[in-house]
Amino acid sequence: MTEITKNNSLEKVQEHLKAECFNKLFIGGHFVDPIDGQKMPTYYPATGEVFHELPKGNANDIGSAIDAAEAAWLDGAWANMPAAERGDLISRMAQGIEENIEALAAIEAADVGKPFRQAAMVLSGAASEGKYWGSLGAVLDAGQDTPVNSGGGMGGLPPAEWDVVYRRDPIGIVGLISAWNYPINVAFRKVAPALVAGNCAILKPSEIAGLSCMFLAKLAQDVGIPEGVFSVVTGDRETGAALVASPSVSMVSFTGSSLTGTKIMEASAPKLSQVALELGGKSAMVIFEDTDIERAVEATIKGCLTNGGQICTAHTRLIVQEGIKDHLLKELKNVLEKIPYCTDPITERERGDRAWEAGITDVLQPIVSASQHKKIVDFLNETKAAGIKIYTGGRVPDPADVKNSDGYFIQPTILTDVPRDSDAWQKEIFGPVLSVRSFSSEAEAITEANSTAFGLASTVMSSDPAKAMRVANRIRAGAVFATSTGEGLLAEHPAVSRGGFGCSGVGRELGISGLHEYTELKSVNYSGFSIEEAKKISNHG
Ligand code: NAD
Repeated sequence: MTEITKNNSLEKVQEHLKAECFNKLFIGGHFVDPIDGQKMPTYYPATGEVFHELPKGNANDIGSAIDAAEAAWLDGAWANMPAAERGDLISRMAQGIEENIEALAAIEAADVGKPFRQAAMVLSGAASEGKYWGSLGAVLDAGQDTPVNSGGGMGGLPPAEWDVVYRRDPIGIVGLISAWNYPINVAFRKVAPALVAGNCAILKPSEIAGLSCMFLAKLAQDVGIPEGVFSVVTGDRETGAALVASPSVSMVSFTGSSLTGTKIMEASAPKLSQVALELGGKSAMVIFEDTDIERAVEATIKGCLTNGGQICTAHTRLIVQEGIKDHLLKELKNVLEKIPYCTDPITERERGDRAWEAGITDVLQPIVSASQHKKIVDFLNETKAAGIKIYTGGRVPDPADVKNSDGYFIQPTILTDVPRDSDAWQKEIFGPVLSVRSFSSEAEAITEANSTAFGLASTVMSSDPAKAMRVANRIRAGAVFATSTGEGLLAEHPAVSRGGFGCSGVGRELGISGLHEYTELKSVNYSGFSIEEAKKISNHG
């Protein structure tokens, strides 16, 4: 692989993007042009330059992918294959990610604007997670035909007069719609369990940054996923809407904003098809005054600045005990005002996500797109007009701070004494903006933490383990961290299920529950013979 240097960074990425998979849709096992021949541009967030045009599929292309998926589903070979064999293919796709991290990280750095170092780290996580999903194939097989104890005397209920086993069937044709902030991670977290479970899947990546997801098509072809079982159709929200609306799609797994989540639920309602929704958040960072101040500073900054604040679990509400509020805010301001901007993410091999190892957030990346940047600038202007105090930041940085770049940068911002009913407290901003409120008692801390409609993640920091766990147990969120150090904040493990409470989502991802989202639980009731007898006579699947 050629070394990427500062002067030729975009050109090197463009070399990678000449490969067929970054220029065609993948339908029925083949790379094809969109029926209407349309394309859409993608921009380098650090400079605003267009660096690639990718195919824009529409409803007709979705129709072709559905036809291919229906043929593969009717054929039945994929759904009837042992899940362990499907898992092996997924593990090989994961291996393919691992072997191409250098190119994929450069592509994600250009597409999302995240430092190369960070992109490489996160892609390595996607590869490990994919191997975990692959290993669950054998677990799925082992769990088929589990005898059901129907009654067993519980509650005085007599057992059923016949025998029962449980099976987990694939759902059918599933639509997978992903967000842009961690492109391949979000997409593969859907593709892998959907395929291991035996479904036929159609992926629609984000139009804002979805290039790396297109590589999944090449990997699927390379490892021999049968034709039609997996398709990738790039396009915009209308392409996504066409996928959701298809009567043939029996489930949609979606990661994105809560607003789009409601639209997907509405569109799925008439056909009563299933949805799994991983949505937005406004996670709380609750800090008690017995917390070490240095650890509190590091954890707060990591919580709200990881990926430039563009992470669903971003801890963008700081809820601090009154006794350390002023001290903590002063320290945060000192650090935030010195964090440098990442003006060429593609070549940024030293800085980015250091917080995950050393605790220190070392660089701030640009916002992903001009429209998302404008949304944040507009929000900051409205916030100022509403009289909310900007403690630090609050605007676009001076040109000299970003090497006169035309990129989409925003100063890291702290808003203080934020009213509970304001947008600054209630809405997801998806940028480097931290809103602050304070509390005096434990009960108040819990009330503040639970004061939005979201419930994705939250953290409680205290040196008192009992208090930290007590408060964590009362917070309504799918993933809660209780810690004296901030260690593990935002971390995920493939085997640990998570998801959203309230407006943050429906269903769970990761872990065995994440695999089960892509299955239907079926009870097979039988009588007059034993299951061993049935297995002896025929292969019943
Ligand atoms: P978005 O909702 O704008 O778009 C997400 C995807 O949905 C894109 O592929 C888009 O084309 C598609 N889409 C848009 N409208 C559609 C419609 N009507 N029907 C079908 N598809 C449609 O979200 P985004 O800006 O790409 O992503 C940011 C959001 O994602 C944030 O809210 C963030 O919190 C959330 N997110 C959540 C998680 C999680 O695990 N909970 C992870 C990452 C991101």
